[in-house]
Amino acid sequence: MSYILLMKIFVISVCLMISGWINAQTDYLLTADRVFDGESMHTGWAVVVQGNKITSAGPLEKMPIPTDAQKISFPNSTLLPGLIEGHSHLLLHPYNETSWNDQVLKESDAYRVARATIHAKNTLSAGFTTVRDLGTEGAGYADVGLKKSIEDGIIVGPRMLVSGRAIVATGSYGPKGFDTDMNIMIGAEEADGDNLIRVVRDQIGKGADIVKVYADYRWGRSNESKPTFTVEELKLVVETANSSGRPVVAHASTPEGMRRAIVAGIETIEHGDEGTMEIFQLMKEKNISLCPTLAADDAVAQYRGWKKGIDPEPLQIKKKKESFKMALQAGVTILAGGDVGVFAHGENVRELEMMSEYGMQPMDVLQSATSTNAKAFHLDNQIGSIREGLKADLIIVSGDPSKDISNLRKIRLVMKDGIIYKNEK
Ligand SMILES: [Zn+2]
Repeated sequence: MSYILLMKIFVISVCLMISGWINAQTDYLLTADRVFDGESMHTGWAVVVQGNKITSAGPLEKMPIPTDAQKISFPNSTLLPGLIEGHSHLLLHPYNETSWNDQVLKESDAYRVARATIHAKNTLSAGFTTVRDLGTEGAGYADVGLKKSIEDGIIVGPRMLVSGRAIVATGSYGPKGFDTDMNIMIGAEEADGDNLIRVVRDQIGKGADIVKVYADYRWGRSNESKPTFTVEELKLVVETANSSGRPVVAHASTPEGMRRAIVAGIETIEHGDEGTMEIFQLMKEKNISLCPTLAADDAVAQYRGWKKGIDPEPLQIKKKKESFKMALQAGVTILAGGDVGVFAHGENVRELEMMSEYGMQPMDVLQSATSTNAKAFHLDNQIGSIREGLKADLIIVSGDPSKDISNLRKIRLVMKDGIIYKNEK
């Protein structure tokens, strides 16, 4: 290598280091017509960001402003904490493009990861700065690698909580319907009885932040959802995961599957379609949250031919609406998570719109997608609110999402960890 080339490389490296340093060190003063701090809406507020932290938030006139702070403001805007997606599958893409079976069986992990990098970027651009990703569905621990690539700055995406392969009872999960002489790859890891201890530990060792189990699945004699694991098995999972400081979350749609998960000590229930008042009251009593994934049911019904707005509502959708209302009545903590991946990444707001459409007040939806999710995911000392000391995950949208939740689609600015990823004047 020539001396001149070496010098060039040296100069370029120094420039990159300096620009990286400047980028990380930029201070900002953000103002907006409204600031939603994770709990309530304020006017006349400003937020100061120094490095990757929020250093002050409150009324502008009382605010100590760093002299070199870069000012950011948009007309008719609302500033909010970065949104948190409660239930994503970054390794999946919409089922009307490719069926779940074909994604699991025919798409290589490399292909799926290539797609996932775009999904991650689209998610962040939509204002979702954190996701709880609940299973790779046949892509092994690709989520762990995706998370690290984002943390290392190789690709752009949200901060991730990952659950790796997830755990299903033997015989319960898909893909199904093949000659039994063939060894078909299953979309999650099978385990039963005492072996659950080993599988939970193995998944944790391979990078799972969360252990996800399927407490029921569509394996009834007519393909209906039926419970899978016994309470004892679920308790083993919870005890093993909890001793490492990790929570367990359960896919559960049937009252009995939900009941077993609740009794076993899991923290959140995903879907909960057939939940009864009794079950929701039990959830409330035990402080277990529901992640209703309304948008996934809505998307799947449309993939099956339902013309929304034209055709009458399918029974499945009617029932989902009823059970969601019941959960609200019972006072269950509602998380915002759409099972995105079933529908397009970047369309995450669809779940928040449906929560509002199904009877939640927009302010409650905003809380769900920020401070409530953060608390349920044990991240409330880092993200989900706008207050001094938290990470600078912030978004600005046009209009007032507390009046119309769809204003969350009008993203103007996305900041994660003090770095601006989107800034649309
Ligand atoms: Zn899911």
